[in-house]
Amino acid sequence: MAKMNDIKPFEKRLYLASPTMHGEELQFVKEAIETNWVSTVGENINRLEEMVAEYVGVKHAVALASGTSALHLSMKLAGGKLNPGAKPGQALKGMKVFCSDLTFDASVNPVLYEDGEPVFIDTERDTWNMDPAALEKAFEMYPDVKLVVLAHLYGVPAKMDEIVDICRRHKALIIEDAAEALGASYEGARVSGKCGTFGDYIAVSFNGNKIVTGSTGGMFLTNDGNDADKARKWSTQSREDAPWYQHEELGYNYRMSNIDAGIARGNMLHISEHIAQKKAIYERYREGLRALPVSVNPYDDRTEPNFWLTCMLIDEASMCKQVRGEKEYLYIKEKGKTCPHEILEALASINAEGRPIWKPMHMQPIYRTHGFVTCDGYGRARSNAYIDEGDIPDTGADIFNRGLCLPSDNKMTPDQQEKVIDTVRRCFE
Ligand SMILES: *Cc1c(COP(=O)(O)O)cnc(C)c1O
Repeated sequence: MAKMNDIKPFEKRLYLASPTMHGEELQFVKEAIETNWVSTVGENINRLEEMVAEYVGVKHAVALASGTSALHLSMKLAGGKLNPGAKPGQALKGMKVFCSDLTFDASVNPVLYEDGEPVFIDTERDTWNMDPAALEKAFEMYPDVKLVVLAHLYGVPAKMDEIVDICRRHKALIIEDAAEALGASYEGARVSGKCGTFGDYIAVSFNGNKIVTGSTGGMFLTNDGNDADKARKWSTQSREDAPWYQHEELGYNYRMSNIDAGIARGNMLHISEHIAQKKAIYERYREGLRALPVSVNPYDDRTEPNFWLTCMLIDEASMCKQVRGEKEYLYIKEKGKTCPHEILEALASINAEGRPIWKPMHMQPIYRTHGFVTCDGYGRARSNAYIDEGDIPDTGADIFNRGLCLPSDNKMTPDQQEKVIDTVRRCFE
């Protein structure tokens, strides 16, 4: 590892992305407690739903316990349309579902909650999201597929013009996972708006590391009032309108609490400020790393990301040898070259948190037997992340191999960031 002895470690750990509280959060939580509205009903929930629906530009919002629960209810709704009469837990039974490959596994797990079969679609290099060319190829290979789960990675919108067009042509529904992309927007020729307006069913997240947090929590968004009503009912144990607990269908305990909603409501007031801070961080990294053989995570001209995390990709020619097993790694330092793990170790040595790029789904043991489609057709399943010399990896594996997420906390000062940049720079010595 590069020598960092003369860079003094941060006294307080510098995080990838930690919650940023402002004051209103406490006020709204206090009001909830003082008025005894601490359960899953109350002013904070109502106001948060209104705020997010208006901000994103959708008609309906249902506050839930997590982004994952919003995705699960999305799967049930999509399944209800595509596979009517299916049993609970089997809404997607017998169905292949095209899914983003380079994403967090919460995008995909809910497909399995409903017995569907994810088929992963490779990633493009312009935004690190689902590759429209690979998606088109996948529809050639599996023409019966009617559902696509699309994530916007790290707050960078996917190529929505192309993806919406392909899905419309193949009459496929879209579940939009906007968990990382609240506040990001896209101005296309065919579609435009904020992330969270493009799907038939949409999920956002208020997890602790997201751009707006409720400590935990998530939201289901839709323009369809019936779907919103169903999601709301399912999320509160599917209680019927009756004097007693009356149940006609299976329910879930997925509703947001009014306490968490108070935190999210207060935090949501600061979303523009958070995005501006994240953008400044991204731009300082881009400038600070300019002289090095690296690039920061790219975005399309048509978009304005929320810049949730800044990531970097090491040029191929400047990668030293790095080998990854399932849970360990090795690298061999070479002069003038580095690799993600050397940089991550160097960051850890100054008490800063970085992280590898999300490991693609098709490389995960849990999903290794699933289909994976690249622009050329069938992708090759990988037994591990090892990339042989001369091997041409798929795009997702390549970004995973050469990339990493940099500390992107919106409380990071320019001085602290300069130290981070300097630490990265020394790894190339
Ligand atoms: C965080 C995240 C989720 C899940 O949200 P939770 O609120 O943590 O359940 C889903 N998809 C992606 C891409 C995420 O980053």
